[in-house]
Amino acid sequence: MRALYWDGRELCFVPSFAAPTDESTALIKVHLAGICATDLQIFAGYMAFTGVPGHEFVGSVEQGPGELIGKRVVGEINFGCGECPACRRGLNRHCPNRRVMGILNAHGAFAEYVAVPCENLHLVPENIADEEAVFAEPLAASFEILTQIHPKPDDDVLVLGDGKLGNLCAQVLQLAGANVTAVGKHSDKLALLNNVGVRTLLLDKWQPHLFDIVVEATGSSSGFGLALSAVRPRGTLVLKSTIAANHQVSLAPIVINEVNVVGSRCGPFPEALAALAAKQIAVTPLIEKIYPLDDGLSAVTHARRAGVRKILLQPSDHGRSVH
Ligand SMILES: [Zn+2]
Ligand SMILES: [Zn+2]
Repeated sequence: MRALYWDGRELCFVPSFAAPTDESTALIKVHLAGICATDLQIFAGYMAFTGVPGHEFVGSVEQGPGELIGKRVVGEINFGCGECPACRRGLNRHCPNRRVMGILNAHGAFAEYVAVPCENLHLVPENIADEEAVFAEPLAASFEILTQIHPKPDDDVLVLGDGKLGNLCAQVLQLAGANVTAVGKHSDKLALLNNVGVRTLLLDKWQPHLFDIVVEATGSSSGFGLALSAVRPRGTLVLKSTIAANHQVSLAPIVINEVNVVGSRCGPFPEALAALAAKQIAVTPLIEKIYPLDDGLSAVTHARRAGVRKILLQPSDHGRSVH
């Protein structure tokens, strides 16, 4: 099969990569895969990953249990061991022995086929297009916030960052009834949020004041300090950015202001799929461009450009066999 491969130093296109053959997993033909900021962090050394990158995908099952064959699916990215205390509590995303699709010891979805444990798969409802379903993973990560904190209707919420994840977090918090303001550096990206009724402000026009809840989704190491400075005493700071570089900030304000700091990563797929099926979250305006897999290197170069929306990869030759 064709695949992109990251060897730890360089990303290359491999025309004849061995297709996955693990019997314990479902084999999925990838329809679309999304390039995310985490992938770009991986190409900067994050997680010291080598292999096929990619963890945002939608596809159809080619090999696996009979009831899944031919079905359209999306997949949770953490492959737990199934036996440790975390897995037994249903927290495979915190399994200490986990593999993570395209991030840690498991090949990902920037390929014609990806292998995923069946228990990680979720069926995609008919009325969700591939171009929407491919956002299930980052949207689930945004819904994770609502499993961790419970904003009240009059809570003032600030989302810092107008990238893909910031956009989805702002929409999810607005859906939950919070009073959301999104602050970012790009007026065209903020306009996407304006179009769905979220209040937005450009960072250089923003007069900092204090919010009940601040979500840091800037994807930059300078975002943490700014986010922390915008939380009211006894407020909540939610951290969504995963960054390869180390932070250099004083933690004193967290103690002095008794700030509740919440780290937030992967989240529940059923909530994300339900919101997509109900057309409650606008995701297709976030798509910048769809590249064929063979042009994957150009796609990654494009995704690296500042201010770019979501770049998708399309392994295009539907109908070809695995071998
Ligand atoms: Zn991602
Ligand atoms: Zn485990």
